[in-house]
Amino acid sequence: MSNLRILVSAASLFLVFAAKAQSETTPPKLVVGIVVDQMRNDYLQRFGDHFEEGGFKRLMNDGFYCANHHFSYVPTYTGPGHASVYTGTTPAVHGIAANNWYDPRIERDVYCVEDKSVRTVGIANADGQMSPENLKVSTVTDELMLRYNMRSKVVGLSIKDRGAILPAGHLGQAWWYSKGRMITSSYYADELPEWVNRFNDRKLPDTYMKKQWSLLREPEIYTTGEPDDSPYEMKYAGEEAPLMPKDLPKLSELNGFHNVFKKTPYCNSFLIDFAKAAVREREMGKGEVTDFLAVSFSTPDYLGHAMGTRGVEVHDMYLRLDRDLADFFDFLDSEVGAGEYVVFLTADHGAADVPQYNMDMGMPGGYLDRTQVAAEVAASIEKAFGNNEFISAVKDDRIFLNREAVAASDYTYEEVCSFLAATLRMIPGIYNAYPVEPILSAGAGGEFPFFMLSRGLYPPLAGDIIILQDNGWLSYGPVGTSHGSPWTYDTHVPLLLYGKNISPGRTYRRTEIRDIAPTVSMLLGIGLPSGTTGQPILEVLE
Ligand SMILES: [Zn+2]
Repeated sequence: MSNLRILVSAASLFLVFAAKAQSETTPPKLVVGIVVDQMRNDYLQRFGDHFEEGGFKRLMNDGFYCANHHFSYVPTYTGPGHASVYTGTTPAVHGIAANNWYDPRIERDVYCVEDKSVRTVGIANADGQMSPENLKVSTVTDELMLRYNMRSKVVGLSIKDRGAILPAGHLGQAWWYSKGRMITSSYYADELPEWVNRFNDRKLPDTYMKKQWSLLREPEIYTTGEPDDSPYEMKYAGEEAPLMPKDLPKLSELNGFHNVFKKTPYCNSFLIDFAKAAVREREMGKGEVTDFLAVSFSTPDYLGHAMGTRGVEVHDMYLRLDRDLADFFDFLDSEVGAGEYVVFLTADHGAADVPQYNMDMGMPGGYLDRTQVAAEVAASIEKAFGNNEFISAVKDDRIFLNREAVAASDYTYEEVCSFLAATLRMIPGIYNAYPVEPILSAGAGGEFPFFMLSRGLYPPLAGDIIILQDNGWLSYGPVGTSHGSPWTYDTHVPLLLYGKNISPGRTYRRTEIRDIAPTVSMLLGIGLPSGTTGQPILEVLE
């Protein structure tokens, strides 16, 4: 090889490196974070045979798939899930301990995004008295705003308030649904911008609800779950059986328009209509700095609660969501530019199979009556200690003691806690119950379920006893399903990352929900959210 050729190839090698380094350090114009509310990982496989090419499959085939991705705390609910995705940590740190929790400091129930100090903007009701006030750390979206000194556009949108507010962080804008309109609160804006008014004036839900909801594909393909006439599904008023197609005008008359609309795939389409309006009207992905659109699809959760994990309706809704996503990605290609944006898609929790289905199949499962549990606990306390004042509140999986009453008695706090835990763990449907204090003061790493308990307990709201239900058991039914447990059906969700600077690939290594935010921080070259305890997923960045 001549000296000249060596020089030329060295120079071209340098140019290749320089170009590569430059493309890797140029951040994407837009990040689209998608949360599918209640999406289990196995849906990608169960429904995947009938997905088309441009939606979920585009993310799976051309992006990076974390196939063993989990929540690593309890409780697995919507508020904590969204907060954990966007803060890169768990309820122990970010403070969103449940959807609703009992706060012993003020002795009342609190909704995770409630804020009575702000007013609704966009409709005359209380649905907008919401803000991120209870979120105690920064989000990846906050860090993007701080990195670019508020020049980024951060927009969170969802049908549920908490699905929009928590992802948008403290510095973004959030929009959610109330009675056919997209609204916000005075935390974000004093009035609706003109583009949102124009969107609301189109009254798209009315148009969608004039339709029937029929199966998208031929009936023969819907074989991954129960037959359409299933005893595990909710029946609407006016229905003989929970059958497709759904006569939406008739059902909405008898069951309430918005109640029905939120459980149709058209509600996902409506949210995408709004996402497109936001991208266009706010000119997202067109500025000097990275913008962030956080979308949370609530319908999969509403419909899952009603129909379970194996309903034909749920299968069909995912096929239609797949189409809607394909359409949205095409829109982003033309609006922002193919290859110029990043998408990640995950869920805020999974879901249990319907307990009655489990029981009928010979699988473990059952129904736990929490009112009865509370009554049994009160009776056993009375019997053992001759005192019925030890318990101040029972809220979901938590028991709060009246510490003053215990201190004034002949028994120690530890004696009462350990008696309660021992009583609870003998009740059918309860896996175990734990005194909270030792977990809070000593931490609890190590084996399941201890690491999940310690990561889920936000100290001031932790209470005194925490209860874990048995595998397959719910306090919800008799039809439809729920979630909230530490078991894999609730923790195992998809994570797909796709787009600029992300190579296609797949890992079966266990990754965690709290790893998403630090991974996105590294991709964007921005600060870590202030409470992050997760780790960047190296396979995605390399
Ligand atoms: Zn949820």
